[in-house]
Amino acid sequence: MYLSVFDIFKVGIGPSSSHTMGPMVAAARFLDLLRASPFQAVGLRASLHGSLAFTGVGHATDRAVILGLDGFTPEHYDASRADEALARIRREARVKPAGLTALAFDPARDLIFDYEHALPGHANGMRLSATDAQGDVILAETYYSIGGGFVVTQAELEAGDSHDETGRNPVPYPFLTAADLLDMARRSGKSIAAMKRANELTRMDAKTLDAGLARLWHTMADCIERGLSTDGHLPGGLNIRRRAHAIHERLKAERGMNMTPPHTINDWMSVYAMAVNEENAAGGQVVTAPTNGAAGVMPATIRYWLDHVPTAQPSRIGEFLLTAAAIGGIIKHNASISGAECGCQAEVGSAAAMAAAGLAAVMGGTPEQVENAAEIALEHHLGMTCDPVKGLVQVPCIERNGLGAIKAVSAASLSLRGDGTHFVPLDACIETMRQTGQDMSEKYKETALGGLAVNVPNC
Ligand code: SF4
Repeated sequence: MYLSVFDIFKVGIGPSSSHTMGPMVAAARFLDLLRASPFQAVGLRASLHGSLAFTGVGHATDRAVILGLDGFTPEHYDASRADEALARIRREARVKPAGLTALAFDPARDLIFDYEHALPGHANGMRLSATDAQGDVILAETYYSIGGGFVVTQAELEAGDSHDETGRNPVPYPFLTAADLLDMARRSGKSIAAMKRANELTRMDAKTLDAGLARLWHTMADCIERGLSTDGHLPGGLNIRRRAHAIHERLKAERGMNMTPPHTINDWMSVYAMAVNEENAAGGQVVTAPTNGAAGVMPATIRYWLDHVPTAQPSRIGEFLLTAAAIGGIIKHNASISGAECGCQAEVGSAAAMAAAGLAAVMGGTPEQVENAAEIALEHHLGMTCDPVKGLVQVPCIERNGLGAIKAVSAASLSLRGDGTHFVPLDACIETMRQTGQDMSEKYKETALGGLAVNVPNC
């Protein structure tokens, strides 16, 4: 399976890649099926299962499905049109996707949260169906939102590969594990980013790749800025106040003061991440990195490097992203980046590993030091559960991204103080994460049925 840097990092909408972006992508795929179908559909139905049902409202899954069936996509999401479209759909009980006739869809009747029947393939299952004038189903598909905005059908899941590479050019560095990655780096004398870049160039030209990388960073940077400048409360009912703006103002006021303790640098890293995750919680545009819940770690680490490390060079941001994507692809291929599958170790843990690798690379680390940085960051997130209060991607998620960025920077720094040799290989750490995730109770996998979600009063 080949995962592009643009599979690992995607421009999308908050608050969740698996519960918001994925269902919207699934709806878009179903509309494409309908457009290609010889049958004339009259109405639509949708059902959400497993984690999508349990935490769907908190993650705005209902909103994503309704808008998705109306033709909205994460990539081209227009926030200014969304509320008006939702009001129209609820009022008229129909959707109007481009290229199809208007289809009956009353969200109150046709969107079902099925808490009793989990689908067999994955915790995040959904079924979409189209009906004829008699109400009989004429087309149906089952989709699984497997994390990071990736969506597979039942058949694709059973085939075991959501990225069919049949007929595509082989990539020059087909690494599937960290051991492969290091071996290929030693043989080729190339950095991880250079190998990843060579792979990407079999799928697109250099101009497209560089423009795409620049767009990713600009979207991340804009998201930080919006989060730092926006005050108020987050939606969802927890009445959580946005904190990034006020903390940032205080940090700016304290800058240069003699009495500022050195650990204040941690607050800078946290505030960048919190800004992104507050935007995500508010349904704003973010870059999945590798998920929305963990979207703050990568941008915070890059912004920390740019603003606080004297040797930082903006021209190397592409190298940062490519290195991080190589590590993220290996984690996704061999374990998971989904909180619903393996808990938060797979989300914020993976993001921290990716960010640590990127930072170590742009600070001059060898491939061995880069692999070591990723391993340290992931190892010290092992076992971390996913237990968002009220199913909202707010508590513990927003602060957790700040702490993830701090760990990423510490891991990169520690690795650069050694020569890259270390006791635990990254592959062993990834396999440990996978096994730990398998053994983890379902209560701690994005169901909001355990942990903080049940121990913190939220009303
Ligand atoms: S606790 Fe972690 S995995 Fe769960 S929703 Fe929050 S960020 Fe995602």
